[in-house]
Amino acid sequence: MVNKKMRNPNHFHDEHYQCSGCGIDYEYDEVRDTWKCPDPDCNDYIEIYAEDANGTRARFLRKEAKEVEVGDLVKPLGGIITDFNEVYAIYPLKNGKLGFNLKEIGQRTFSVDDCITCRNGGAW
Ligand SMILES: [Zn+2]
Repeated sequence: MVNKKMRNPNHFHDEHYQCSGCGIDYEYDEVRDTWKCPDPDCNDYIEIYAEDANGTRARFLRKEAKEVEVGDLVKPLGGIITDFNEVYAIYPLKNGKLGFNLKEIGQRTFSVDDCITCRNGGAW
């Protein structure tokens, strides 16, 4: 697997990281490039347990734009920790980017390796 950094991740006030496959806790420096488990036998998504400055908590994943699926709840804008938009459609654009049609905010364009924050379950 190519160990390439994802582009433009956004971060919350307080985060900790646990593999959704093997359940091991990791440090930011171990997961920040790919947001997948560093164990090559696992390589599952890292779950991010985040808390904002007001103590509101949410759980999410960071996927590359090309890994996002219709129905995912994504967070393209930053802002409130619990504020996500459902993906209605994903379509390739002529310039090699991906168009996302998102609930409430309409079309957004991403590079295939842009880092997309995806909601993964509720509070923790
Ligand atoms: Zn793992």
